[in-house]
Amino acid sequence: MKHWRRPLLAVIPVLLAGTLLALIAGPGVGFGAASLVLGIMLWHQLLNLARFRLWVLDPRPENFPEGSGVWSELFSRLLRLQRLQAQTEARLQEALTRFQNAGEAFPEAVAILDHDNTLQWCNPRAGSHFGLDLQRDRGHKVTNLVRKPQFVEYLQRGEYSAPLSMKIVGAAGVETILSVQVVPYGDREKLLLGRDITRWERLETMRRDFVANVSHELRTPLTVLTGFLETLSDMPEADPQMVDRSIKLMTQQAVRMSRLVEDLLTLSRLESTTAPPREEDVAVTDLLQQLHQDALALSNGRHDIRVRIDIPDGLRGNQEEIRSAFGNLVSNAIRYTPEHGRIEISWTEESGSPVFAVQDTGIGVEPHHIDRLTERFYRVDRGRSREIGGTGLGLAIVKHVLSRHQAHLEIRSEPGKGSTFRAVFPPERLLHASVPHAPRAVAGATSA
Ligand code: ADP
Repeated sequence: MKHWRRPLLAVIPVLLAGTLLALIAGPGVGFGAASLVLGIMLWHQLLNLARFRLWVLDPRPENFPEGSGVWSELFSRLLRLQRLQAQTEARLQEALTRFQNAGEAFPEAVAILDHDNTLQWCNPRAGSHFGLDLQRDRGHKVTNLVRKPQFVEYLQRGEYSAPLSMKIVGAAGVETILSVQVVPYGDREKLLLGRDITRWERLETMRRDFVANVSHELRTPLTVLTGFLETLSDMPEADPQMVDRSIKLMTQQAVRMSRLVEDLLTLSRLESTTAPPREEDVAVTDLLQQLHQDALALSNGRHDIRVRIDIPDGLRGNQEEIRSAFGNLVSNAIRYTPEHGRIEISWTEESGSPVFAVQDTGIGVEPHHIDRLTERFYRVDRGRSREIGGTGLGLAIVKHVLSRHQAHLEIRSEPGKGSTFRAVFPPERLLHASVPHAPRAVAGATSA
């Protein structure tokens, strides 16, 4: 129905009735009656309009006017629309709150900037990464809040395909490396993201150092080998004594390289698996006897090597890994202890924890090196380590094996006096032997 038909259909009958009454009872009566009815109709409209106006001024659902006639239908439709709108608003509000909660829980810094880099919103992580505070800084230009020149330049450059790496110093003086990325969206607005990549950068540096170290370690033996091979091939009539000497030296270098590769493979095996080691019952007393024999062979009579077994108990762990770790500690003691020195290999219990220790009267280590000894390729004296066949990976392997067994390494050392390396295992790894055992000491090779 067209919008004008309804009012017309309401007025026409009144006019017709008024005209009919004017014909029957005279024009005064007819028009008077019609005017009265039209006036009542007008009053009715004005009354409802006034109710509507009152509600518009305070549009709460409980204030909604009753209305009469066509107004009643109009008001009830309006009420329905208002409820629908309230529901939509509540849903939108809920979605907004959910979005804000997600933004606040986001582990990376997030900030919303408008076209001229004014801060609109940011999450709490933007506080620790960029020093932004939503309450304090909303409406301020972010370039006035984060004053690092490289950041300001990055933001103003407008080229955001690659992220920016930025070093920041936190409240406690801790240095953090941030990866900053801007994502433009909507009407020239920007999403500013900040991710802590300190750990990743450190790993990347470690990886680079590692490759450089391995190349460096391999370069010397390879240079020696190729040098000898070239000399030999240039001398068809070589002196047999010289050939013998060259072969000996080349073998030494080849052994050095294969030792390095072996250690690298062991380390890589340990690092590449997060799965716990295959566990078995390790008979430590037997293992110590084997280690003792190996030590005697390596020392070749140059040291006084003793084994002290205080407890008969074994260890729950991986036989191969434990053997490799203990063996590294023993061979270090021999290699870093001058002739006639004393070495004691012991297996004891301390406050319920099984402890494997190697004590020597060797060259010792200055205190400031101790924390770094388990780093890959860290050596106190690079030349000396190489000379005695070290790869610089032994203690890194020990550390890995111990951590896979929830154990830790304790190092005590005094330069010129000697060192003690102790592998301390958790008590639950101790395998109580059924046979009571009397502490015993096994004397080793005496000094040469
Ligand atoms: P390397 O193959 O050089 O021995 P390690 O990782 O086994 O590598 O040891 C790292 C460094 O720790 C050694 O280069 C050495 O300087 C020091 N070190 C290890 N064990 C001893 C020890 N028993 N006495 C003195 N220094 C030691």
